[in-house]
Amino acid sequence: MKCSNCNSSAVIYLAYSKLNLCKQHFFRLFEQRFKRTIREFSMIKKNDRVAVGLSGGKDSTVLLHILSKLREDLPFELIAITLDEGIAGYRNKTLDFAKLETKKLGVEHKIFRFKKEAGISMDEIMEKDKKEIPCSYCGVMRRYYLNKGAREAGADKLAVGHNLDDMAQTVLMNIMRNEPMRLARLADPLTEDDKFVPRIRPLMRTPEREIAIFAILNGIDIDFQECPYARHAFRAHIRDQLNESEEKYPGTKFKIVNSFMALQGIMRKSMEDTKFEISYCQKCKEPSSGDLCMFCTMMEDVQSK
Ligand code: SF4
Ligand code: ZN
Ligand code: ZN
Repeated sequence: MKCSNCNSSAVIYLAYSKLNLCKQHFFRLFEQRFKRTIREFSMIKKNDRVAVGLSGGKDSTVLLHILSKLREDLPFELIAITLDEGIAGYRNKTLDFAKLETKKLGVEHKIFRFKKEAGISMDEIMEKDKKEIPCSYCGVMRRYYLNKGAREAGADKLAVGHNLDDMAQTVLMNIMRNEPMRLARLADPLTEDDKFVPRIRPLMRTPEREIAIFAILNGIDIDFQECPYARHAFRAHIRDQLNESEEKYPGTKFKIVNSFMALQGIMRKSMEDTKFEISYCQKCKEPSSGDLCMFCTMMEDVQSK
């Protein structure tokens, strides 16, 4: 198959735009979309210190590479933060990849271990409470330590590897769970409290499949293994449904995310009228909507089991 833009052989077919692209034209599209997304939302300013939440999986590793390359055009500092949840047979492998990549790129790397920070690993939590859904615990802990870690590292922004598929899944999950306020908060990545490091998602318009192909074509070392707890997640169900829809109706994921973006303005406006009172957790002093933050509430729950 020939590239739709030149005479070279195609390496990828993009069903949503009916384009076959060679390596060179695919890289061009990939990088241009990435830069456009950063510009569109003013994600990174000159001399910012950007912390990348690096899991060692394909999305965050590609994000680290491409941000590192972006520094040729825009000077800013880059550091990487990896959380070690303590999931045997999984995180230790991706952690090795994360160490390798940061070393290769010369990027400072900080590792936060649940066991050391919270006194308990994910495997130990699941041992105590087999009925619980792992990601509901892990998600709260991840958000907590990524924010804390980025702030302590002096970061102005926290870049996460969420791709187009993740975004479309999150939008649908919030709708299907009837959690409009969560959806509204997703629309507003810049929280005013100083203790929150603003999150940026430079890959939010990039399909997951294209990230995987970009990684392979660039020879980026990646472990494609999935977290053993992921199968429990509601997200896995939505992901399968969305992939099926995308196959039948190419462009579905873009359409979901674009609809969400179009509604952003309206959601932000309605949020202005219902101002969130940010207070601080009485126990850990991190930002919280109640007396105890989600993290401390969850830890008390775990310890009582
Ligand atoms: Fe944690 Fe769930 Fe992600 Fe596994 S899939 S690392 S349990 S949030
Ligand atoms: Zn071409
Ligand atoms: Zn707390």
